[in-house]
Amino acid sequence: MKPAPFAYHRATSIEDAIAQLNDDETIARPLAGGQSLVPMLNLRLAPVQKLVDLGRIETLRRVDEQAGRIAYGALLPHAAFEDGRVPDGSNGLMSFIGGQIAYRAVRTRGTIGGALALADPAADWLTTVIALDGQVVLVGPRGRRSLAAADFVTGPYMTALDQAELLESVVIPRRAKTERWGHYKVTRKTGEYADSMAIALFDPDARKARIVVGAVNGAPIVLTKTALEIGEGANEERLQAAIGQELAESDRAFSPAKLKLHVTAALRAIRKAGLS
Ligand SMILES: Cc1cc2nc3c(=O)[nH]c(=O)nc-3n(C[C@H](O)[C@H](O)[C@H](O)COP(=O)(O)OP(=O)(O)OC[C@H]3O[C@@H](n4cnc5c(N)ncnc54)[C@H](O)[C@@H]3O)c2cc1C
Repeated sequence: MKPAPFAYHRATSIEDAIAQLNDDETIARPLAGGQSLVPMLNLRLAPVQKLVDLGRIETLRRVDEQAGRIAYGALLPHAAFEDGRVPDGSNGLMSFIGGQIAYRAVRTRGTIGGALALADPAADWLTTVIALDGQVVLVGPRGRRSLAAADFVTGPYMTALDQAELLESVVIPRRAKTERWGHYKVTRKTGEYADSMAIALFDPDARKARIVVGAVNGAPIVLTKTALEIGEGANEERLQAAIGQELAESDRAFSPAKLKLHVTAALRAIRKAGLS
């Protein structure tokens, strides 16, 4: 299929893009890497009357390194993380994730900001940025605001982005050098979206853990009680029970098979982080 006709504007600055998007008469959408939006246009799944191309806005590719955190411009492609072209304060987790998404052609065009703004529940960056306790910076007609990534995603394909607001950058706190991470992704074929995915982080010095499960019909789930059990040195049997209970108590209705899949992914991520 071919897309329905649409107007096209190549934005020259963030302000220009916001002005173009801030139009009540027209359904306008920002275009980043186009890896999800263009297929949706072709299938006529995304009603769009005007595309506002962000590709020439160099400030959206900026990296701002500070002592305690790194801010990544929304337009940075997955390949920039994979290739180590941007600094990594996550002990290698972000660069590993950059190389996990789809295949190289998609990673060259697809962007971290586009993946988060789309909020596909199975998107790799969604689980990763929430696991790393990241924030997103949004900019729109009323100025800038920062949100925890966990609050930015409000449901499957739903975010806190207002009309004419852009995701400008993703801010990741530098993780402790002693922190270890484990990642497990269940997928039928390499390069496909996950059926389940989990990330476990553990800092043995602080005895602090963070466990996040993704591809769960909405925002990734942060397993806070399981993380406390890890800090207390729980064995694998106790952890398995804690993960199952926390997922079952969440607001998602998992079939028994899905629940088992997510519990297994979380346990394997925990094992990979060297925790059990
Ligand atoms: C074959 C294939 C396999 C894939 N496999 C995976 C996978 O395994 N894991 C995975 O995580 N992803 C996967 N993807 C998706 C890929 O990661 C895309 O990068 C991502 O979905 C969207 O990023 P994009 O930059 O292309 O955004 P676009 O397609 O340009 O935009 C996506 C949406 O976000 C909005 N948007 C984009 N940028 C901004 C911004 N800065 N501010 C506000 N709104 C914005 C757009 O308006 C649109 O609604 C796959 C894609 C393909 C085509």
